[in-house]
Amino acid sequence: MLETGKRERLRDLPAVDAVLRYPAGAALAGRHGRAAATAAVRSVLEDLRRRISAGEQPVVSEEGVVALAARTLSDRGLRRVVNATGVVLHTNLGRSVLSEGAVAAVAEAATRYSNLEYDVAAGQRGSRYDRAAPLLRELTGAGDALVVNNCAGATLLALSAAVAEGEGEAEVIVSRGQLIEIGGGFRIPEVLALSGAGLREVGTTNRTRLSDYEGAIGENTRAILWVHPSNFEVRGFTESVGVAELATLGPPVVADVGSGALLPFGDEPLVGEAVRDGAALTVFSGDKLLGGPQAGIAVGQPVWISAMRRHPLARALRADKLCLAALEATLTSYLEGTAAQDLPTLSMLRASKEEVRQTAEDLAAKLSREVPGLEVDVAPSVARSGGGTLPLYEIPSFAVRLGGREPEALAEGLRASDPPVVGRVHDGRVWLDARTLLPGDDEAIVASVKAAVG
Ligand SMILES: *Cc1c(COP(=O)(O)O)cnc(C)c1O
Repeated sequence: MLETGKRERLRDLPAVDAVLRYPAGAALAGRHGRAAATAAVRSVLEDLRRRISAGEQPVVSEEGVVALAARTLSDRGLRRVVNATGVVLHTNLGRSVLSEGAVAAVAEAATRYSNLEYDVAAGQRGSRYDRAAPLLRELTGAGDALVVNNCAGATLLALSAAVAEGEGEAEVIVSRGQLIEIGGGFRIPEVLALSGAGLREVGTTNRTRLSDYEGAIGENTRAILWVHPSNFEVRGFTESVGVAELATLGPPVVADVGSGALLPFGDEPLVGEAVRDGAALTVFSGDKLLGGPQAGIAVGQPVWISAMRRHPLARALRADKLCLAALEATLTSYLEGTAAQDLPTLSMLRASKEEVRQTAEDLAAKLSREVPGLEVDVAPSVARSGGGTLPLYEIPSFAVRLGGREPEALAEGLRASDPPVVGRVHDGRVWLDARTLLPGDDEAIVASVKAAVG
């Protein structure tokens, strides 16, 4: 019986050609070349044959074979990338880099049992938010706090809770200047629709006044939503109303401040300011200017945080233990006053021009020494905070420029190394911005450049 199973499994193993014709297999051959892909697939199939003969029951689908082959081609899933783009909170490259303290906390929570939902002193069930909430209260001045898995989720939950607290028709008032799309398909009108609230638009794209909001308040009004237009700016003939004024109108104000700045940076709204200004709920990201893990944090008045906790969506959006471990450690850095040094995101954003120039000079010197014949120099560049923060804010920076080669081909070569190095092509050269480089990235870049030009 078993032997028959084995025979069938061996017979079901796809052929090398079939795997490479399969869409994911063809893509693999496209990325790595047909010869390398064929060799990788063949070796995976040999291994599977061996394992099946030994009585194991591995996955033998084309998709599975491609995935295993990809790993042997250092094309393995989520992995390190060198960010030489100069965009600090690069959403495509993972936004914030965690502090050492946060990483240690994640490792401990991941590899051991924890007091996630256990009150150790009382010997009974506790809440997973018991530890983050006091830190957030202290740091923002809010009465209570809740953590979910991202800011988009926190916004949806805050609005859904506001809708669920009343009966009958529900309306949320928003300025037409704030009906925005954040990126990744997060559009305020759609989020509102999902929460069950009718959208009551007021004002115009460029100008909204307090009287516009006032005139729209009625018996169905459940909240006023204020959204930080994170990723764009309207300039010229503009007028908008701040949280402080909105809070005088009566309905609860939900402030989506997005970036989650706990310390001043550019003109980004500070979380504590929205709280002080009287927002019932202030929601923000954990992995933007806060410099922590992906998370959506809501702080605000205890009755509104309770309403969020009670809502069924809170369970659907709940933060996992690794996120909470990283977030608690990150917030502790703020509490201890060491955030600017501990958190890589903050130190990259705040590094002086001179420090960045030194990093660039050191890298350029290393490259000139180790890659003979390469044209290398250092030039002033412009870095950005990214992640939908401060779209027009230019952070002075320095880049190492690589020339004397076809730039697109060179950039492609740098991306093909392990770890891939992602820079920018500009003015016929590859620019590697030094502001976003982390310790050890210089060696990775030297190896990548060597491989790309050699
Ligand atoms: C970035 C942003 C969001 C989405 O945050 P995520 O944590 O990425 O879900 C929502 N609102 C505003 C104003 C933002 O800037």
